[in-house]
Amino acid sequence: ETTRSVVAQLDGSDQRSANDKMATRVHKRKVDDFIFGKVVGEGSFSTVYLAKDKHTGRQYAIKAYEKLHILKERKSDDVRREKDVMNILTNSGSSLFVRLSCTFQDRGRLFFVMSYAKNGDMLSFLNSMDSFDITCTQFYSGEILLALEYLHNLNIQHRDLKPENILLDDNMHIKLTDFGCSKINNLESEMETLNISNPNENNNGKERANSFVGTAQYISPEIFYEIPTSFSSDLWAFGCIVYQMITGYPPFRCRTDYLIFRKIMNLDYSFPDEFHEDAKDLIEKLLVLEPNKRLGTEDAKRYTSIRAHSFYKGLNFDTLLKTKAPLSC
Ligand code: ATP
Repeated sequence: ETTRSVVAQLDGSDQRSANDKMATRVHKRKVDDFIFGKVVGEGSFSTVYLAKDKHTGRQYAIKAYEKLHILKERKSDDVRREKDVMNILTNSGSSLFVRLSCTFQDRGRLFFVMSYAKNGDMLSFLNSMDSFDITCTQFYSGEILLALEYLHNLNIQHRDLKPENILLDDNMHIKLTDFGCSKINNLESEMETLNISNPNENNNGKERANSFVGTAQYISPEIFYEIPTSFSSDLWAFGCIVYQMITGYPPFRCRTDYLIFRKIMNLDYSFPDEFHEDAKDLIEKLLVLEPNKRLGTEDAKRYTSIRAHSFYKGLNFDTLLKTKAPLSC
C-alpha cells in the first residue's frame, strides 16, 4: 500500500485516484447488487447471463470469466484488452457497439456488466430465416461497415468478426461485441508491419507475427502466412459475412478446421447459381488473398470505395442508423 501511494504521488495520480474512489464509492457494483437470470450465451472462456440491477431495475448482460481458466489458458492479456477496447468504445458514445457499464470481481470470477442486446445474435436470426433478402443484406452489412469504419478509425482491429458477435438491440439495429481477440494498433504493430524488430521484446525479436486468433470460417489467409494482420483482415471476414447473409452459410466450410484453412488458402469457394451479380462482385473484391488488394484498403477515407460499390446503390449510409430496420423480432 505504501509503495502504491508513493508511486501515486510520483506520477501525480493520487488526487485523481482519490476522486475516482469518491465516485466509485457511490456507484461501484458487486455481485450482490445483481439478480442473475438465464444464460444468454456461452463462449469458449465465459458465460453470459441476463441480470438485473437490484437498485435501478435495469437489465444487463453480464459476462463472467473464471479466473483460474483465464490464467491457465494465458488469456489475461486478452481479457484486459477486451476491457480497454470496450471502455474506449463506450466512452466514444457510438451506438454501434455493446456498452461496458462496469467491471468487478469476486474471489473466483471477473464480471463485465454490458448493455443487453435483447434480440440476441445475428447467427440465430439468420439461421431462423435461412438467409436474408438483398434489402436486408444491404442494411445489415451496411451497419457492419459503419462499425468497421468507426473501429478502424480508432486504430482498433476486431479480429473475430462473425455473425455470433453481431448482436441486435431492441430496434433490431446492430451492436458489435466480443473484443477478446481485438488489437489496438500502436507503434509496436506499426514496427511489425515495417518488419522492424521491437527493442523491448525479450525473445530476440523473434516473436511470431500472428497468433492464431478468430474463428476458422472467417480467418483471413494472411494469418497462415504469418504476415502481420491489418484492418483488411476484418474486411475479409466482412466479405464472408455478406456471402453468408445471402446464402445462409459461410463461403469456406468443411468437416474440420484444417480443411477449412486449406480452402481459405486456395480461395476455394463458389457461388450458388443465380447469385446476385452486384453482391458477387463485392464479395470477390473483398475475398482477395493479398490483404492490400482488398476493396477499401486504399481508401484515403474509410471505406468510401465499399460504400460506393454498386451493391449499395440506393442505400443512404448517413441515415442508416436512424432508418427503421428491415427485420422485426
Ligand atoms: P467466443 O468464444 O465465441 O469468442 P466469448 O467468450 O468471447 O465467445 P461473447 O461472444 O462475448 O463471448 O458472448 C457469447 C454469446 O453471448 C454471444 O454470441 C451472444 O449470443 C451472447 N451475448 C454476449 N453479449 C451479449 C449482450 N450484451 N447482450 C445479449 N447477448 C449477449
